[in-house]
Amino acid sequence: MSTSTLQISLRDVRLVAFDVDGVFTDGRIYVSDDGIESKAFCTQDGFGIRRLLEAGVEVAVISGRQSVAVERRMSELGVVHVILGCASKIAAFDKLTATLGIADSECVYVGDDIPDMPLLGKVGCAIAVANAVSGVREQCDYTTVADGGFGAVREVCDLVLAARDKAGR
Ligand SMILES: [Mg+2]
Repeated sequence: MSTSTLQISLRDVRLVAFDVDGVFTDGRIYVSDDGIESKAFCTQDGFGIRRLLEAGVEVAVISGRQSVAVERRMSELGVVHVILGCASKIAAFDKLTATLGIADSECVYVGDDIPDMPLLGKVGCAIAVANAVSGVREQCDYTTVADGGFGAVREVCDLVLAARDKAGR
């Protein structure tokens, strides 16, 4: 997808939903001897999320895994739609968009792996992170330059904000 086509597809976006592992993080999960998990988040991503929220765009994270670290980080960023440990990402997404009254065509989803594919096939704009598996990258409208955990989320936030800005939103 060309930059101008991408901008057109992003200018009316009302919800940006993200997978967590491999998108907000590099996909690695640190497990200590006593079983406590931790992950590393990128501060630049955080600033992008805050700006997106300030612009009035809904932000959601949808993950198949439960994680206290993710709950804490999202709460810090002001993300209220935090769906963790869900068996079906599609079902979770459908419930959220129905509650918010947002059409699939007004949504962006950002993913990195096979479990994201059904949702990537459903939204108005599907974005893969640079480190996504090749099948995911092939299915998406756009692939970020940055890797998950290293600015990919920020890149998506900036793309959406730039497209809205250009359209005078
Ligand atoms: Mg993932």
